[in-house]
Amino acid sequence: MRLTVCNCRAENYQRAQRKWWMRPLWSRRLYHCRACGEMLFIPPTEVLFRRAEEKAVHLGNDTPATAAG
Ligand SMILES: [Zn+2]
Repeated sequence: MRLTVCNCRAENYQRAQRKWWMRPLWSRRLYHCRACGEMLFIPPTEVLFRRAEEKAVHLGNDTPATAAG
């Protein structure tokens, strides 16, 4: 399980059921990446940000993809 996003596209992320010990960590959500099979325990804002970024790239905006580092 990772605590950071993987290198796959966020559109592959699927919400998964959190384990009981994850409940106090309400700021993070559990996702399953269908591309690499990893479980990701990350803040949902991270996923929303990446999805928005991917959508922007898809629409042909010339925002540099490397801007986020
Ligand atoms: Zn992945």
